[in-house]
Amino acid sequence: MPSRFVRSWQTKGKHLKTLSLYEMGMLKTCYRCGGEFSTASGRLCMICRKPRVRVRKPPVNRDLSFREKQIAQLVCQAKLNKEIAFELRLTEGTIKEYLNRIFRKLDVKNRTQLAIWALRNIESAA
Ligand SMILES: [Zn+2]
Repeated sequence: MPSRFVRSWQTKGKHLKTLSLYEMGMLKTCYRCGGEFSTASGRLCMICRKPRVRVRKPPVNRDLSFREKQIAQLVCQAKLNKEIAFELRLTEGTIKEYLNRIFRKLDVKNRTQLAIWALRNIESAA
């Protein structure tokens, strides 16, 4: 008889203790992820409360760097890679690399298309 009383009291006590944590607002279930957390206010755990990092695909960056613009402008002036290289004091190979990068960025296929793009998009293009 006494032992049975103690056991039921213990069970009850544990139960009460768990309940009281929720009741006191110390332990909550996150509204979003369902995880338990303890905090004074709010319905979201610390993880969910953090501003969500937007995993958005970055838009294709069509902005050309200063150097790329320079090259685009020179292409616009119908200059050869060799001439562009000379003007910018770069090697012809470097100019080719730049041009390929510019083509990819602007989604153009050749220097004629690049020249057209430059005329429309770069203010000081010749
Ligand atoms: Zn959460």
